Amino acid sequence: MGTFFRRIAYFVCVVSMLVAAFLPLTNTAYAEESQNKDFIRWVDNKVPYEILRSAYEYDVKYHGSETVDFDFVKALAYLAVKNGNKFQIKRDIKALSDLVLSLQKGKQIDDYFGSNKYYKYYVEAYTAIFAQFIGDYVVEETGEVGYGLKNYHPFPKGYWFNHADDFGNARNYGFKRKHLGHDMYGSIGTPICAVEGGTITELGWNRYGGWRIGIRSFDTKRSYYYAHLRKNKPYIEDLKKGDTVQAGQVIGYLGVTGYSYKENNNMSCPPHLHIGMQLIFDECQYQGPKEIWIDMYGITKFLSHNRAEVHKQEKDYHAENLRKTVNSEWNR
Ligand SMILES: [Zn+2]
Repeated sequence: MGTFFRRIAYFVCVVSMLVAAFLPLTNTAYAEESQNKDFIRWVDNKVPYEILRSAYEYDVKYHGSETVDFDFVKALAYLAVKNGNKFQIKRDIKALSDLVLSLQKGKQIDDYFGSNKYYKYYVEAYTAIFAQFIGDYVVEETGEVGYGLKNYHPFPKGYWFNHADDFGNARNYGFKRKHLGHDMYGSIGTPICAVEGGTITELGWNRYGGWRIGIRSFDTKRSYYYAHLRKNKPYIEDLKKGDTVQAGQVIGYLGVTGYSYKENNNMSCPPHLHIGMQLIFDECQYQGPKEIWIDMYGITKFLSHNRAEVHKQEKDYHAENLRKTVNSEWNR
């Protein structure tokens, strides 16, 4: 027995010395990077379309309600905590309706997991994703005002597309990179609309994305990437880096360019839009190894309920009757 305890003591001693020797190193490295910074480092967006749609319908239904305090983002966070981020459509739609019943009886969503750290995490994560998706809008041409979806599907009304949940798949072309976006197949020349308004941060040729556009949201929390745009005529006339665009505005045209150092080169695969959505909680996540890209499959299905009407005018297609955010300096 004595030997046994001596061995344990020896072991503990050695481990403590090792820890003592390496901890300062790792701590310093960590401290440098995260000095005064407490931000989200990863988000795994797994909310299915059906849940987004159901939560959205409740959000619109109870918007402005004096009695039922429903909130789209909080409801999603409630579900993610409840199901451990493993969504099941039928079960979670029922959980949502049960939640609404309890809210009708005077409960608040925060009553359930208000002090839970995971709940706070999901509220912040889903706020970063959906902050500009739903709200008050005005259609300037018609004077219509409303509350609802105000971000847009990338394909306008009447244009076919086909897609599947392909986020994180292995890529072709021999590049060992995970697919950090969503491919939407369609016809070459289909006008592509900005999902959300923002500032153009990238525009031009990229050896992977071909003719592409990067748009950063006005609140800087999201960045959208539209790639493989059309050979010879990828963008609407005069669009350039630094310009601001609004949600639904036509920015370019579907194509099949990319995977070449040579500009304006078409790939040998079916034409498609590669759309990516990136979350930025801290500037160090904007570019480089810390980028956070999320699955857009459910999001694009959700956005199919708001597709822009476009018409051709001179050289380009233009969207009309767009929903613009009420009282926002972002509608330029
Ligand atoms: Zn892609």
